[in-house]
Amino acid sequence: MKRYILLTPGPTPLPPSVSQAMAQPILHHRTKEFGALFEYTLEQMKYVFRTQASTVLMCTTSGTGMMESAVANLLSPGDKALVHATGAFGDRFVKILRSYGLSPVVVSETWGHAADPEKLRRALKDNPGLKAVFFQHTDTSTGVLNALEPLARAVRELQPEALVVVDAVSGLAAERLETDAWGLDVVLTGSQKGLMGAPGLGFAAVGQRAWARVEEAKLPRFYFDWRSMRKSLDKKETPYTPAVTLVAGQAEALKLIRAEGIENVWARTSRLAGYTRAWAAKVGLQLFARDPAAILTALKLPEGVDGDALIKDILREEGISIAGGQLQLKGKIIRIAHMGFISQADLDAGFAALEKRLAPSGAVRSA
Ligand SMILES: *Cc1c(COP(=O)(O)O)cnc(C)c1O
Repeated sequence: MKRYILLTPGPTPLPPSVSQAMAQPILHHRTKEFGALFEYTLEQMKYVFRTQASTVLMCTTSGTGMMESAVANLLSPGDKALVHATGAFGDRFVKILRSYGLSPVVVSETWGHAADPEKLRRALKDNPGLKAVFFQHTDTSTGVLNALEPLARAVRELQPEALVVVDAVSGLAAERLETDAWGLDVVLTGSQKGLMGAPGLGFAAVGQRAWARVEEAKLPRFYFDWRSMRKSLDKKETPYTPAVTLVAGQAEALKLIRAEGIENVWARTSRLAGYTRAWAAKVGLQLFARDPAAILTALKLPEGVDGDALIKDILREEGISIAGGQLQLKGKIIRIAHMGFISQADLDAGFAALEKRLAPSGAVRSA
């Protein structure tokens, strides 16, 4: 196969040992062997989520499936909820809530800005009786990092009944996140970004306060029912056939994360972000986000550059996959990821491909 480098913020490339683990014979899911693999995976996920107090659940679904499962398991018809949106993924929470018949309060930030705790405080005061408040740890569409600690503190202080629900699909195992220390009731994620797994597994860390709500919540749910997932944990099983291949790969990826140490994973991501930003400064490309996360660098494209065509050319001619902008940012930015198994050499290849196409017209300087 010709060169194929993923610089996209999910899916991210797989370490070779993860690919190898997925090439093993399929285990039956109701066996001791699979039970041990599953238990190991959940234990290591607790380490990554930085929680002792929460129960970790796993489901065969993508990140959005876990977002939907949080809505279905935590809320009842007529419940009030708030979404503090910082980009396309905040908007997705709004769409999911609406599709379940709820009318969330939406606090929106200008794209590129992080969630403002003061703005949140005002909204919490103006909207009493909230059952849950939804955040992104990092919004992948804008490359923004939200300061979850003060945001969660504001919810606890002003609306102690409201659960703090965090989408950490792109932030987990890339940026510092402390489920227990920051008082996060639910943190959810997917396998294909910082976790260095193949796409297709969802995880959620569900705390005690959230479990009480899960018991009484009335929105419809079946496949996504967290109660059946928790019940099956006693037998080290999932309610339905899990993606055993993906679990084998994820267990291996978690072994690598454990060996590196989660703090070192955060430091590595941050170092690669610094490396990309130094290159961008040299060639004269500007950061899109005012409050940038380390998971990815979103760069504004100079006037007259068609971002979509640029990315397509680079993929076709060089086998390098770079992400463009979503929704209103389509064609206007590029996003270069730093999470998971992406290396400095991968980034160098991406930078060379961009310079080769942008420098001749003077859109960028040569580094
Ligand atoms: C990738 C991502 C998701 C989920 O995407 P899926 O394609 O459903 O896995 C959700 N939230 C954020 C912040 C993401 O980056």
